[in-house]
Amino acid sequence: MAGVLDDAQIGRVLSITAHPDDVDFGAAGTIAHWTEAGIEVIYCVVTDGDAGGFDEDFPRSEMPALRRAEQVAAAKCVGVHDVRFLGYPDGRVEATLDLRRDLARVIRQVRPDRVVCPSPERNYARIGIGHPDHRAVGSAALDAVYPDARNPFAFPELLQSESLAAWTVREVWIAGGPDPNHYVDVTATFPRKIAALRAHESQIRHMEDLTERLRTRLALTARQAGFPEGRLAEGFRVLDTA
Ligand SMILES: [Zn+2]
Repeated sequence: MAGVLDDAQIGRVLSITAHPDDVDFGAAGTIAHWTEAGIEVIYCVVTDGDAGGFDEDFPRSEMPALRRAEQVAAAKCVGVHDVRFLGYPDGRVEATLDLRRDLARVIRQVRPDRVVCPSPERNYARIGIGHPDHRAVGSAALDAVYPDARNPFAFPELLQSESLAAWTVREVWIAGGPDPNHYVDVTATFPRKIAALRAHESQIRHMEDLTERLRTRLALTARQAGFPEGRLAEGFRVLDTA
């Protein structure tokens, strides 16, 4: 197991994801544990998921507002009440300097002890989890953690024009990567994770077996973790970034 900071040392967590629903598939069970322990969790979602959904009759122009509302509702299911959207176009995210600056800005505003983000690496075992937007956001988020947010001379306009002082994130949890090294038992919060996922109505309407599919996946992760039979787990790669 990785050397992971005790949750008692964590005041605030920032989750950075590409699309509405990513955090709920990857980490909502863990986040529910954190908020139950009194940790404040803030979501930053890079796109509005405007290329998502399956209903061809639904006006595309209304998709961003719908998906924002779904993510805000999902967040509430796991005790998160601060959701920030960056409004990048879904399906076309690249790890640009602009995205790094925008993420460094949010990190300096929120001042989190821990950041959760997607993996910049492909996961050959599950192709969907390595969506190009996820990899781009994972790469930009790690660059924003180190060096951008902590270096007062990186994006100096953040300090000069917005009075956002440098901030060092102590720990990063990468969700959905190919090589997890830390597992959280989410058996107790699984119902809250499912409630959060069901809030993404436009995305999961066709998944009649959502609960069973998730239970099977999280049981497999629990087995990888060496947890007792019948447990459910979410896996992460934890990095010491202090
Ligand atoms: Zn996604």
